[in-house]
Amino acid sequence: MALVETVRGPVDAGSLGTTLMHEHVFILNEEVRENYPGDWNETSRVDDAVAKLTALYDRGCQTIVDPTVLGLGRDIHRIRRVADGVPLNIVVATGLYTYNDLPFYFKYRLPRSGGLDPMAEMFIGDITTGIAGTGVKAAFLKCAIDDEGLTPGVERAMRAVCRAHRETAAPITVHTHPASLTGRDVLRVLREESVDLSRVVLGHSGDSADLDYLTEMADSGCLLGMDRFGIDVITPFEQRVQTVAALCARGYAGSMVLSHDASCYIDWFPSGTIGKFAPRWNYEHIFDDVLPALRERDVTEDQIETMLVANPRRYFTG
Ligand SMILES: [Zn+2]
Repeated sequence: MALVETVRGPVDAGSLGTTLMHEHVFILNEEVRENYPGDWNETSRVDDAVAKLTALYDRGCQTIVDPTVLGLGRDIHRIRRVADGVPLNIVVATGLYTYNDLPFYFKYRLPRSGGLDPMAEMFIGDITTGIAGTGVKAAFLKCAIDDEGLTPGVERAMRAVCRAHRETAAPITVHTHPASLTGRDVLRVLREESVDLSRVVLGHSGDSADLDYLTEMADSGCLLGMDRFGIDVITPFEQRVQTVAALCARGYAGSMVLSHDASCYIDWFPSGTIGKFAPRWNYEHIFDDVLPALRERDVTEDQIETMLVANPRRYFTG
């Protein structure tokens, strides 16, 4: 059986088990945190993450796939401290998260003519030798496109991710904005870059209930990330569940993965507000509410197993 890199080292793909394909542990702006630490306490934040992820493991999840990359505050040392304290596997990513411009660091480090983009070289190093000297290897690549579309910065990051995919065979997750039909831009670029589309998740596809768009994307061979359960403020629970059930009924269970896009800590919102605007946005909502609702809509145990176990395994092993 093929091996998949996790924070604690490689594991058999067959042991990934029930896998949530898009969960963060920490999302934060490290520069803000360093300069305006407020009440940040490293030890209590790590302890909080250990407690929440241990509870998730006890709920039946064996692996989380964490697409936190540059732009979202990736800190492999902090993640390693969390991983050392929890029984579940944490799979980490490399790549870059922007909806528009690149950080200045990359803006003037341009690809040499005919050569690799320096950004792609960094991604490849994270996958082949490990992140920041820790030896912890990224197992997949991440980039983003949102409602601003394929800006020059977004396109350069996406093509660098594609190049790293071609060099390493690591799979790709793309943050998309389905309301703007951005999956079509993603597929065009990925096809130009000869990406294996069966190794791609179109993240946040589940924000959409447009079955024509979703089946068009799935028919390309990509996986649809039905991965924001709990963010009912964007798309209500009923609609998210109904869309997954409808796609299962049409034979698309093999084209979907499930997740929440949740985190233990995210600095995007003032403290205390998430509970008000997204009270069910946590790691266990799928087990507590979504799976029972899918079963009520005639989604079978086989289809659930396909979405939570088989599709994630296939994504990592090809
Ligand atoms: Zn995310």
